[in-house]
Amino acid sequence: RNRTSVTIIGLGPMGQAMAAVFLERGYGVTLWNRTAGKADALAAKGAIKASDVNEAIAANDLVILSLTDYEAMYAILEQAGDLSGKVFVNLSSDTPEKAREAAKWLEARGARQITGGVQVPPSGIGKAESSTYYSGPREVFEAHKKTLEVLTGADYRGEDPGLAALYYQIQMDMFWTSMLSYLHALSLASANGITAEQFRPYAIETMQSLPMFIEFYTPRIDAGEHPGDVDRLGMGAASVDHIVHTSKDAGIDTSLPAAVLEVFKRGMANGQAGNSFTSLIEVFKKPVP
Ligand code: NDP
Repeated sequence: RNRTSVTIIGLGPMGQAMAAVFLERGYGVTLWNRTAGKADALAAKGAIKASDVNEAIAANDLVILSLTDYEAMYAILEQAGDLSGKVFVNLSSDTPEKAREAAKWLEARGARQITGGVQVPPSGIGKAESSTYYSGPREVFEAHKKTLEVLTGADYRGEDPGLAALYYQIQMDMFWTSMLSYLHALSLASANGITAEQFRPYAIETMQSLPMFIEFYTPRIDAGEHPGDVDRLGMGAASVDHIVHTSKDAGIDTSLPAAVLEVFKRGMANGQAGNSFTSLIEVFKKPVP
């Protein structure tokens, strides 16, 4: 039996998956959750169910928080007793600023924080190919890396406690916009009698073509160069305009492609029509006037 043991606070789908994986690997696991009943199934598999949050924190030096957001952390820890000497690995999603404030708050109480941004759903927990961003004091991360790697691969981004949250938010920015584009495309398909299943291979093909574009444009974007040699913003604007009209003709909501068209129009108004669509990054860098 592995003698390492951890405390997990927060037993939503994510915390439960984490506790189950630690138990499977032979780790000692102490649990606490606001709704106590969520610990019962795990206790039946060998986890220790703490009777209050202080007992859970006292049980181990490493305390994993898997909560809805950082507000939930304060709601729980403000009522707890001594936190000194503890390492809190906060895997709750929130803004980088909230993660930085929390790291200071814990430091003032003699504890330390490692921020984490889990990049997989609960089904990805326990798989080495899954990944979590971490940031915070390097020596604290290194000391607990092996234990954290039970959950997912560990991608340490740096000392700033906000970094893991920042990488997570940047990636989620891409994720939600991409997935809504998929849903909008499906609603256009559906209005024309095409099912999600019928469109599935084409949806996958489109998404799989994106890495090639990312590879191609990355050095140009970093160099601040947006030549119109392979694509022109004016061409892109006409293309998006066609999507808006195809959507209108189908009688579906046009707000998503219309928002994209607005961004193209702002680029055109800046005189970028002959440059690549990547010049729109300059539009995005400033708030709407
Ligand atoms: P949930 O929101 O389902 O889990 C919430 C947990 O936080 C529960 O244990 C809940 O307690 C507790 N909680 C919320 N508010 C309070 C409060 N005020 N006081 C005490 N406890 C509170 O989230 P998940 O388990 O799905 O995820 C946990 C974190 O992981 C989230 O930050 C999420 O963004 C992130 N994440 C989740 C992924 C997913 O696919 N699920 C993927 C990647 C990251 P109670 O049971 O009593 O309600």
